[in-house]
Amino acid sequence: MNNLRCPQCGSEDVTVTAEQMFMANTGDHYCHSVKAHDNDAKAGCLKCGWSGLREALEGGSHA
Ligand SMILES: [Zn+2]
Repeated sequence: MNNLRCPQCGSEDVTVTAEQMFMANTGDHYCHSVKAHDNDAKAGCLKCGWSGLREALEGGSHA
């Protein structure tokens, strides 16, 4: 299994962000939250500060 890498500096010290959204007025959970494994999850690199989407990371299992 390949590790995901930063497309900018090649570091494997990359992160993905899971997001949960709630309706501001009611506090109800908004269903379309982003999971860490989603391609459109926010990703970042701890080494060079790159940020983007998970699908932009190099390596891993691109279908
Ligand atoms: Zn980087």
